[in-house]
Amino acid sequence: MSTAGAGYRLDGVYKQRQDGFYMQRVKLAAGVISSSQVRAVAAVSTRFGRGTIHLTTRGSIEIHWLKEDDLPLVKRELAMVGLTARGACGGAVRGITCASQGAQAFPQLETLARRLHRHFTGNPRFERLPKKFKIGIEADAVGGRHLIQDVGLVLTGNEDGRACFDIWIAGGLGREPRPGFLFLERVPEARLIPIIEAIITVYTTHAPPPKRLKFLAKEFGELKLRELIEAEPSYSEEIPGVSGLPEHLVPSSCERQRLELPVFAGKLTAMQFSRIADAAERLADGVLMVTADQDIALLLEPGHDAADELNGLQHSLGLDAASPGVTFRVCPGNHECLMGLAATRDVAGTLLAHISTAGKKLSWALSGCANSCSQPQLADVGIVTARLTAAAGEEKTPRFDLYRRRTSGLGVKIEENLTQEELVETLRHIK
Ligand code: SF4
Repeated sequence: MSTAGAGYRLDGVYKQRQDGFYMQRVKLAAGVISSSQVRAVAAVSTRFGRGTIHLTTRGSIEIHWLKEDDLPLVKRELAMVGLTARGACGGAVRGITCASQGAQAFPQLETLARRLHRHFTGNPRFERLPKKFKIGIEADAVGGRHLIQDVGLVLTGNEDGRACFDIWIAGGLGREPRPGFLFLERVPEARLIPIIEAIITVYTTHAPPPKRLKFLAKEFGELKLRELIEAEPSYSEEIPGVSGLPEHLVPSSCERQRLELPVFAGKLTAMQFSRIADAAERLADGVLMVTADQDIALLLEPGHDAADELNGLQHSLGLDAASPGVTFRVCPGNHECLMGLAATRDVAGTLLAHISTAGKKLSWALSGCANSCSQPQLADVGIVTARLTAAAGEEKTPRFDLYRRRTSGLGVKIEENLTQEELVETLRHIK
């Protein structure tokens, strides 16, 4: 990556693998976005890129095929609708994620995500960190997503009118996956920001670039890391809860039906994205959610039927053929990503054609390199493109490692160094 590319990272920009093109990532708190913001993203992609949108497993949006000269205008257009990319890449607090969008407590979690997003985004104290710093908020520990965050917050309930959370820290995937450990239990919301500040201070002080917080857990051990964090002055502080009118966009209603629109590999055209915004205005108060499986969810206003609306929407958007009803998370791979070792969307398409009927009930994820952006260690079946290999005189081809997750922890590697043909053969029998 050129120096210029590295300089844009804190603005959420990476160089693409295609020379002269850039990717702009947009942060969404808890994956929530309004229809007017969707239209602005679609318009930016059409005007400055090639009219394509990528939805990420962290509930963010990526716009590919941008030119360097257009990046300031892209930033401006996004800012006009209240969207920011600051800290979406590079050594900063990344987008605050939430995979519990279907939970009854989600509006409460969205509010907290917005608060953390506001506090850490663009704050110079929390930029230029040794590497990325990921925070996720969940309604429960079922999906295991709290295990892969630098700080994972799991709602434990409301006590004396105050929301309380378990805090898990020092998790992460990448080349050395490590599940987070339970740092504190039942912490009132008022203590969360000061504790996270203490964790980031310890991380910044002790971790060399480009190491994550999990490096300190490994080097120091959990006990010493815990002692260092507890010794930080902010550790014992409290910050009063936010007062005033509610700020979550997703309505608080357990009566509403949830419509989940499958999006193969999180890839949409700008036109499809705009039309989904139209549907959100017609059906769901103009609010959409980018899910942790790279799909789009709407909470329907009363009087709409989710199954009927989904059929109509899939058909009108031309998404039915591309979405065979299997949960399959896919990163951009070498279609666009500089690090990618495999054409992930093509590989996923081939694999989908061979998955057994029983296998289709499982969740799947494929990453184009060991960075594991599609979170393969949290899928029932995870595939990591581990390396490129060539026999003498032949072209290099990708080799894949296969993971299975059968416990509440991270998936474990069960096969390695498979060719695509060997992978297909193995997957036929997975159930
Ligand atoms: S897993 Fe690798 S190839 Fe895929 S998006 Fe992440 S860095 Fe790129």
